[in-house]
Amino acid sequence: MNLLFSDTFVENLKKFSSIKAAVKNKVDMIAENPISLGEPLKGNLRGFYSYPVRKNFIIIYLYCDICRKKGDNEIVVCKDCIKSPDNTIKFLTLGPHDYIYKLKAIKKLAEPGESKKEL
Ligand SMILES: [Zn+2]
Repeated sequence: MNLLFSDTFVENLKKFSSIKAAVKNKVDMIAENPISLGEPLKGNLRGFYSYPVRKNFIIIYLYCDICRKKGDNEIVVCKDCIKSPDNTIKFLTLGPHDYIYKLKAIKKLAEPGESKKEL
């Protein structure tokens, strides 16, 4: 798998450093099985997947193979999708459930130019 981490993801991981190990563990699990583990989001968050780290605390990511097949890459503005290998997973953000769902700018997280290879 080709894993990418947005600036926001890395910053939030620092903010919630007490669960850093748990997050890394979940990232590894998602990397093994991004489709069957994640829950596809609906409505204006269509194209994104969420996965709980613990109760009420979630990771949001994209899996390029799937977002392209479904045409979600245009909805989520996964702009460099075409340049990314099929097996690219983009980790976009993480945080408490309510905080994530209130985010209006979540789609901006999918835009290129702010991803890191290493966590
Ligand atoms: Zn994509």
